[in-house]
Amino acid sequence: MAKEKTLAILKPDCVRKNLIGEVLKRIEEAGFEIQGMKMTRLTEDTAGAFYAVHKERPFFDDLVAFMTSGPCVPVVLEKENAIEDFRALIGATDPEDAEEGTIRKAYADSVGQNIVHGSDSVENGKREVAFFFSEEEVTANTAK
Ligand code: UDP
Ligand code: MG
Repeated sequence: MAKEKTLAILKPDCVRKNLIGEVLKRIEEAGFEIQGMKMTRLTEDTAGAFYAVHKERPFFDDLVAFMTSGPCVPVVLEKENAIEDFRALIGATDPEDAEEGTIRKAYADSVGQNIVHGSDSVENGKREVAFFFSEEEVTANTAK
């Protein structure tokens, strides 16, 4: 199976709840290699651009308000089958629908404030990684 990259974002609720370490631990234990990471604070413009596909949805304004409410941590992850495996690790968008053992089931409060983002396709993974990281900021772990 081919290696894929996916973009995770530890969302502002994850940072506020002091869960950065806990979530990264689950990600590493699930076999994902962290190849880039930063802490940043989205603006209305950057959050709106990142979630442009949802612009017409009723939750868009709340989503932008939430994503700009505090710092977040975008993370580049690589693994075989990363897109699908990461979506499985985080669980359904609404934590009430998420499977036991998933990150959203464990930590998310609501469908809006759901701890973590994960790319939904290989193409979107590439686009989303490039949204936050330059090529120089993404590095394979050569010590392995
Ligand atoms: N969202 C929301 N209400 C909804 C659906 C989505 O507030 O009914 C928010 C939620 O934070 C979600 C994000 O919008 O993570 C993007 O929605 P998407 O359907 O892409 O879910 P995801 O891919 O994050 O599971
Ligand atoms: Mg999505």
